Amino acid sequence: MKAGITLLLLVIPLFTIAKEHADPDTAFVRNKMASYQSEADTIADSLWQWAELGYKETRSTALMQDVLSNHGFTVTPGVAGIPTAFEASFGNEGPVIALLAEMDALPGLSQQPSATKQKQPGMENGHACGHHLFAGGAIGAALIIKDYLEQSGLPGQIRVYGTPAEEGGSGKVYMAREGLFDDVDIALHWHPGDRNSARASSSLANKSAKFRFYGVAAHAAAAPERGRSALDAVEAMNMMVNLMREHVPDGTRIHYVITNGGAAPNIVPDFAEVYYYVRSPEPDVVLSLWDRLTTIADAAAMGTETRVDYEVLGGTWNLLPNLTLAAQMDSSMHAIGGIEYSSSEQTFAKDIAPTLGNKATQMVGTQKDIEPFSEVIPVWSASTDVGDVSWQVPTAGIRTATWVPGTPPHSWQAVAAGGTTIGKKGMTLAASTLALTAIKLYQQPEKIKKANAEFNQRRAGIDYQPLVGERQPALNYRD
Ligand SMILES: [Zn+2]
Ligand SMILES: [Zn+2]
Repeated sequence: MKAGITLLLLVIPLFTIAKEHADPDTAFVRNKMASYQSEADTIADSLWQWAELGYKETRSTALMQDVLSNHGFTVTPGVAGIPTAFEASFGNEGPVIALLAEMDALPGLSQQPSATKQKQPGMENGHACGHHLFAGGAIGAALIIKDYLEQSGLPGQIRVYGTPAEEGGSGKVYMAREGLFDDVDIALHWHPGDRNSARASSSLANKSAKFRFYGVAAHAAAAPERGRSALDAVEAMNMMVNLMREHVPDGTRIHYVITNGGAAPNIVPDFAEVYYYVRSPEPDVVLSLWDRLTTIADAAAMGTETRVDYEVLGGTWNLLPNLTLAAQMDSSMHAIGGIEYSSSEQTFAKDIAPTLGNKATQMVGTQKDIEPFSEVIPVWSASTDVGDVSWQVPTAGIRTATWVPGTPPHSWQAVAAGGTTIGKKGMTLAASTLALTAIKLYQQPEKIKKANAEFNQRRAGIDYQPLVGERQPALNYRD
């Protein structure tokens, strides 16, 4: 008995060591990630400080392009008619694996990297969706992959797409429409989050527009009968849309903000504007709801004796999942492993969690875990322009815990954690997982074929048409 226990004690550490060294690719990725960590961190920190909005990511894109070109990538700036978009490539033959790199911040979410809500002095905007980490992680992965291709001599090409204006600007939709993904075999991406998961998921298709109403200005007290209020039309439209909500398919999301409601109560507003998003898991449902929305806008204008026009600003398809790729991402993520907080990170997490409620407090610690893989495909209640890429080329994405578990995207808590080492640990896990996945795919061309077969089967019979139609990128949608 005693001998048995001794043997067991000996066997466990040996097995652990053997497992860590079992996969030379994992060891390669870890070593390379360590050597590129400071460059990835610099990208993340700089973008976080600059917090540039959609299609205005001038400094962010310049830094990203500099890093890639310094490492021997061929960079083409300003692709698809978007000044801040770019394509960077390395390699001449073999399968093309593309990494997507987002970079835009969100308006009005300035926040310090602290556990209490405090605006960052001199900043209006914030990286509340973690796209600064998205950029650093994608580029970190690309540098590792390039080294692997050079050292292994395997045929393969790596490409990075710098994709601006994800938040409402649909940057990737124009890049896809331009045919930039036509020669790509596989697209990989990731997104910051509050958990580690490689599960395949879908998302909501989305169409958005600003509805602009034009009325007649007049003194609101002295000559109200002479005026026709554009704000009345906005209110009538919102009222009818809110009644429509009862009669829409499950899973629909409709939301709006009034972006212009007039200047002063004593002037009948001759102009008012409302910005709408309509979302559903099915692009067809979005289109049918869109027809109803425009009918309502016309009715609101008619009833208030005003005039309306609208400008579509964005449109994205739902994500087309790919289980073949997701399974590979999951096994790569497990090889790299979950996230350990240092004691100062634990203190930050414990301080910020109560601002997110009891559930978040209980969730702290789950950043060590990786969500179990499943073939069940959930619909994530948000939209992304990665959706349109996923209808051009087999695509897979992961999420990692760059925020304290329990943190929702688009919150000040996301900006705060994203500005600390907590955000960078999630970025490191993502970059390593993407790199290891690409390496495994170059090694197994049959898996790339299998992912393509699944892709062709899932999109069979569906006619992809961009929801933005023929319009050019709305480069000034954040003005
Ligand atoms: Zn977002
Ligand atoms: Zn995002």
